[in-house]
Amino acid sequence: SKSNRLDRFINQNSPFSISDTRLLIAQKRILVDGCAAHSIQQQITEFTQVILDGHCLQSNNPVYLLLNKPKGVVSATKDDDHVTVLDLIQHPQKNQLHLAGRLDFNSTGAVLLTNDGAWSRRIMSPGSKLAKTYEVTLSKPLTAEYCAVFQDGIYFSYENITTRPAILEIITKYSARLTLVEGKYHQVKRMFGFFQNEVLTLHRIAVGCITLAGLEAGSSRPLTTDEVKIGN
Ligand code: URA
Repeated sequence: SKSNRLDRFINQNSPFSISDTRLLIAQKRILVDGCAAHSIQQQITEFTQVILDGHCLQSNNPVYLLLNKPKGVVSATKDDDHVTVLDLIQHPQKNQLHLAGRLDFNSTGAVLLTNDGAWSRRIMSPGSKLAKTYEVTLSKPLTAEYCAVFQDGIYFSYENITTRPAILEIITKYSARLTLVEGKYHQVKRMFGFFQNEVLTLHRIAVGCITLAGLEAGSSRPLTTDEVKIGN
């Protein structure tokens, strides 16, 4: 996550000192992502491969996965009582992964997992204004009033905030698609709670440009290069 200068990295990860690094570079003994190092100031992130005298000091690939979370699975990496999203992942680096956003136990759909902390922080930061789209079914009929109220924002006294403008598309009397650009605690359920309307099912179909299309419940896939860019 935090980037480091090459000379500091060499000092921290080999017997050589910060001042030794210039000579190592001149002698072409350091490879950075496969190319001879050229400057003591080269930036080394957790995902930069560094080889010194043929020995690998660091080699760690970034991983970005989309999972279609089934109902009854915990958005955590460890849980004593329930299946976790990590239990559903088959990946050689699965134990490095963390969640970039959660879904409730009974909610389903798009969950992102990564080992790139800088990326997940950007995705989840309020400033990213990343759109998240949910399909919900409700216990009571919807009315056009919901669209106006969700557009204006709902006051959450606990956090003392008003929700950002949200788009509600009513699909049927009891189902709708809701797009939010933030993610407060239980936000979707609390927004419908304003109308005393209980959310029966909640399914996240998209995060930014990343959609679940074609991914069955319990399955995961790597993000494409373009999809990874939502966090860059
Ligand atoms: N809002 C909720 O209330 N639950 C979720 O799982 C996601 C958003």
